[in-house]
Amino acid sequence: MSDGCLFCDIIAGTVPASIVLETENVVGFLDVRPVFKGHTLLVPRRHVVTLSDLPEPLIVPLFSSAQRVADAVTSGLGAQGTFVAMNNVVSQSVAHLHVHVVPRTKGDGLRGFFWPRTKYADGEAEQYAATLREALA
Ligand code: AMP
Repeated sequence: MSDGCLFCDIIAGTVPASIVLETENVVGFLDVRPVFKGHTLLVPRRHVVTLSDLPEPLIVPLFSSAQRVADAVTSGLGAQGTFVAMNNVVSQSVAHLHVHVVPRTKGDGLRGFFWPRTKYADGEAEQYAATLREALA
């Protein structure tokens, strides 16, 4: 619990939200400004800010909840698929880790997740891969 954290207040029940799922470690509630109706946010009860801060024992509880909600928006709401995403620091407007599960249907017109693409110069991809392998080692 972190003072002044909106999502901690939703978890505590002091700020209202449309709760979708509650488990020992995770709460899911509707995003108040949904991309599409049924857009759900999954948050760990424990106050952590980014994915890097999430303790390993909470990874499966959080992402299995996201998986369950993704299944529920297709089976329950008739969506064809989902977009599952998380902002960390950049574009993160609430400093309490949250996974977005957005219902998607072909032709739904969503363009907001269009990302401009770039290209690697000759040999550059291998340099990037090597740097990442080193950072992972
Ligand atoms: P992000 O911009 O990735 O940090 O996502 C934060 C999300 O929280 C946004 O999609 C907001 O619409 C949503 N949000 C903000 N306030 C509330 C609230 N009181 N209840 C539910 N969702 C909220």
